[in-house]
Amino acid sequence: CGIVGVVGNEAAAPRLVASLRRLEYRGYDSAGVATLEDGHITRRRAEGRLAALADKLDRSPLAGFVGIGHTRWATHGAPTERNAHPHAVAGVAVVHNGIIENFRELRDGLIARGRRFESDTDTEVVAHLVGVELEAGRDPVSAVGAVLPKLTGAFSLAFLFEGRDDLIIGARRGSPLAVGHGRGEMFLGSDAIALAPFTARVTYLDDGDWVVVTREGCTIRDETGKVITRPMQMSQASA
Ligand code: GLU
Repeated sequence: CGIVGVVGNEAAAPRLVASLRRLEYRGYDSAGVATLEDGHITRRRAEGRLAALADKLDRSPLAGFVGIGHTRWATHGAPTERNAHPHAVAGVAVVHNGIIENFRELRDGLIARGRRFESDTDTEVVAHLVGVELEAGRDPVSAVGAVLPKLTGAFSLAFLFEGRDDLIIGARRGSPLAVGHGRGEMFLGSDAIALAPFTARVTYLDDGDWVVVTREGCTIRDETGKVITRPMQMSQASA
């Protein structure tokens, strides 16, 4: 159970896997990454060890400088490739740690609107909810801002958007998430250990915060949507 994200200037997939290796200590049963290849969301996911995901990526590499990655500790749905994160619908991919407690009612509402689910996870509702907002014409920031208040539970999330190689979005409610500050590149990670391969400059999100991360920096909002600042710290985690 770990999350990583990168808005960078070199191939994202190997960096995401290197960071996920740092998160292995938390335990996990499956793993996956998504990047933007020519603007399109592309995924590789695997059951079991990270080595299985790394093998898949060796055989069938993912291009793209922007991406998100995940190690899963299944709470809803068996630890299979189909249930592994990232979950994706048209327009958006998401990784998630924790539990979306009201996922059943959200899923029922989405199915009634004709959305089709391909996994047994609580997570997939988040992808669909953001997808619905994007289809309605919202941009990624306002789509995520519209969806977060609909979710109950303790979780952290990271989002990747079709055609947007300039940003990722993260959210934290009851489950840790931090921003890593690079030089002309920015990162998201569950903790400073995950960010250590990239940078020691880390900003921890507070509970309820969500963050828009671009190459130039980040904009943090609290749960009311108000833009706020959180301190940057020097992490002691070793690269
Ligand atoms: N509840 C989600 C799932 O079962 C995320 C679990 C996790 O924290 O990795 O897929």
